[in-house]
Amino acid sequence: MIQGIYLIDHRGVCILHRKYGSINIDENLIGGFLAAILKFSSKLIQGEEEDLREIALRNYRIIYESSDNLKLVAVIHREDDEGLVRDALRKIINLFIESFGSQLQYWNGSVQPFAGFEEKIDDVFLEKDLRDLIIPEIPEATSKATAPIQEPAKPVLSLKQILRRSKTFMFKILLVGDSNVGKTSIIRKTTENKFSTEYTPTVGCDFTVKQFEIGRNKVRLHFWDFGGATNFAHMRKELYIDADAAILVFDLTNPESLKNLEIWRKEILNSFNPLMIFVVGNKADLEGKMPGEEGQKYAKEINAPYFETSAKTGANVEELFKSIAELLIKKG
Ligand code: GDP
Ligand code: MG
Repeated sequence: MIQGIYLIDHRGVCILHRKYGSINIDENLIGGFLAAILKFSSKLIQGEEEDLREIALRNYRIIYESSDNLKLVAVIHREDDEGLVRDALRKIINLFIESFGSQLQYWNGSVQPFAGFEEKIDDVFLEKDLRDLIIPEIPEATSKATAPIQEPAKPVLSLKQILRRSKTFMFKILLVGDSNVGKTSIIRKTTENKFSTEYTPTVGCDFTVKQFEIGRNKVRLHFWDFGGATNFAHMRKELYIDADAAILVFDLTNPESLKNLEIWRKEILNSFNPLMIFVVGNKADLEGKMPGEEGQKYAKEINAPYFETSAKTGANVEELFKSIAELLIKKG
């Protein structure tokens, strides 16, 4: 049976999600994962993307259908009838485009306009042939004779309930800067509150989501943390597209890393012009750091807000992301 349905836009942001089964899947991760995989895969295997419309996990399969810039993803059991699921996915995606296609171009990141579409998704599954797809399995231990008649599961109104109370904003944020400046550490600190002194360079791109609330609004920041290797430059270019903001990170004890920010900025601006750029001097806890004015001066030159953080102590890390979210919401 179908565990969940996720509508993902071209940036990998989850526009809508509907949960029917019991397994928990992070819709943000699915989105980011797919966006990254599909961009790489279409480069690697041009014209054969058909074969890549499915990712098999141990017990589940993630299958998806694309249309224009949208992907509709379903997480199903391995043994489920894929044909039926695909029929349903196509129906849903067509309905969505009929209803909202023209608005997507001007979409500001709020999921508000799509409120109510969840019910249309349910309606598709309540059609006669597709009903079985969302009716939960009867647990194996119960014998059929004694089992109470199972009502179809009432889908959980997750996103919709949230929407009634608040707005949800989603932003794609790029993290760039030389290797070893602490990009991955800043993200780990804010998402897991962990810090490690072991250095594992990021290969390609890491994808992480941070979710928090500002006033009554929910904000999801999708971080795209890029490895510095030059041989990944062509792939990075693809993934920069459609970001809402970029954070240029340097190491306060390494003047070279500050100088190189301009190279990173140019690389981004060459392929895409994000709404906002931030400059972050990291490792503020270390002795021997350069005077703050240097970073500040560069930030001023490029008209970007400036922060000094320590991924080790956590100093200023939360403040950085709150400010970014607030500024992005304001700019909307
Ligand atoms: P990235 O290549 O930019 O992603 O850098 P990493 O996040 O992998 O960090 C590189 C190294 O710097 C690791 O050994 C981290 O432990 C260390 N590091 C990162 N941030 C800080 C910080 O704020 N203070 C200190 N003292 N070390 C840090
Ligand atoms: Mg890294």
